[in-house]
Amino acid sequence: MQLSIIFAPDSELCMENLRILVVDDIYTNRFLLSELIRMTGNEAVLAENGERAIEILKNEQIHLIFMDIEMPVMNGIETTQYIRKEMESPLSTIPIIALTAHNPEIFFEDFSDVGFDELITKPYSIEKIKEKIIALVP
Ligand SMILES: [Mg+2]
Repeated sequence: MQLSIIFAPDSELCMENLRILVVDDIYTNRFLLSELIRMTGNEAVLAENGERAIEILKNEQIHLIFMDIEMPVMNGIETTQYIRKEMESPLSTIPIIALTAHNPEIFFEDFSDVGFDELITKPYSIEKIKEKIIALVP
């Protein structure tokens, strides 16, 4: 695949062997982000909506979530609120990074009570992803 030629695997700056959940309704977005996550030495688990994401969280070990906002069935706002309010610790405090085109300042003003830890905007890059993982996973 083209991406793996552009970005050689390089995991020295990054936590490895984390299981990272990518929640996005668009297949191409899930695929590209999961490839970048794999290049950081971590494992990507994929969900196409929030309902599926919650099912995975209840059954599998996940360390970090990349969450799209607009999705059918259960969107990223509803899903993050559900995780923060309805799930038990430590799942309720899992780091959640919003996938959005919003300006960060406006985003955190508008969604301050939802419970996102961070946001990441397109175009995604291996550097941006590493930076977020390092910032949020102890
Ligand atoms: Mg979407």
